[in-house]
Parts: sequence; structure tokens; C-alpha cells
Amino acid sequence: MSKRKLFRGDKGLKFKYSVEGVNKILTDRYQTIESFLDTEFPKNNNLMSPTINTQIYDITWNSHFVTINDRVKTVSDLKEVLSGEYYCTNSDIRLTKTDIMRKSTHSIEDVRETVKDVLFEKIKKDSRVELDGDIIKGNSQRYQLFFTKGTKCACCGIEGKYFAKEKRIKDKSYHLNLYGIDDNGQEVLITKDHIIPKSKGGKDELENYQTMCIRCNERKGNKTE
Ligand SMILES: [Zn+2]
Repeated sequence: MSKRKLFRGDKGLKFKYSVEGVNKILTDRYQTIESFLDTEFPKNNNLMSPTINTQIYDITWNSHFVTINDRVKTVSDLKEVLSGEYYCTNSDIRLTKTDIMRKSTHSIEDVRETVKDVLFEKIKKDSRVELDGDIIKGNSQRYQLFFTKGTKCACCGIEGKYFAKEKRIKDKSYHLNLYGIDDNGQEVLITKDHIIPKSKGGKDELENYQTMCIRCNERKGNKTE
């Protein structure tokens, strides 16, 4: 997974912490995620430096708060998460590794074949199909979109190439996420976008959906909300 360097002028990765006995909140800052990962803690035996076990809070990326799961409590946790897979834009780091469990990947053709008879099934219990040992809901609006309008991002043209059977740790069952690969070899989630945003009265129906990669979707989302 490639990790994007920040552009000049970006404010980088920042987090707040406090040191025992010092009644002050301190800020630690890094121009790039790599420079944070390369840093040995504590820095230069500096007593005010965070250590690997220092509790951190208010983590920001280019001045935007980063949503991080509850397990990231210390410098060491943040290092672990950021050395895994994540996806970042100028304003956001989306951490996936600790949240999402991937079991297998499947070709678009295999998935199409698996869900084709239930793609538009209206009865919930009849929409379940088995894919490689797991039961998935075969009539998801995302699959309806991808199999009727295609897997290509309407905005940048990146194309969905395979499905991954994934779930968040708290989820009971698996679902399929569609991914493409960008020019840097980085995996990009392909999503279902509302052509007319819900906030502007757009409906939750196939006619109002288009295929869009998460990067374009977030860029669009930021403008219309
Ligand atoms: Zn795109």
C-alpha cells in the first residue's frame, strides 16, 4: 500500500498529549506520516517528548480531526495503525486495517453469477446467497448499481476490478466491497453515489445512483453538503 506524501504547505499530522507532572497540553507535529513512523520515541531523551506509551488525543490531519477507532490511545497504537493500510486525502485519513476484516476476494464475474437470481429480490430472506462458505445479502443496492450501470467511477474513470468479502469487526455477516487499483497500485473503494444528494431531496433508488470511487465521492460530498 503506497502512502502519499503531503504537499508543500500542508499542515501534516498532529496530535496532542500531556506529560506527567507538567500541567500543560503539548502538540507533536509531523510533515509526513512517514516521518512520524520513522521517529523513535522518546525523541533525543527529551523529557517533554511523548514516549511510545504516552496517551494521545485530538489527532488531526491537515487541521481536520481524524476519526480513529477506540483502540488508538497511545503513540504506539497510532504507529501501528498508520503502518497498516489506510487511505488518505488532503483532509482525511481513513483507517481501515483495524476496522475491516477481509476474508477473500472474488472476480466480478463470480459475484455476478452468484447474485444474478436475487439481485432484485424484494423479500429479504430470499435474497441471501452463499459465496464461498458465507451467506451474503445478494440484493444490495450497490450490487444492483454495479451490475446494471457498471463498475467505473463516473468522475475519474477508475474501474472496479474485484470484490472483497469483508466485514467490520462488530458486524455479524460479510458483505462485498468493490475495489479498483489506482496508478500507484493503491486500492480504491468503489462506492454508490447519489447523483442528486439526499440533502437536496435525492432519492434512495437506482435511477439516482452512479458508480463513483471513494475519493471522487468524498470530494463531491464536501462540495454539496
Ligand atoms: Zn473517481
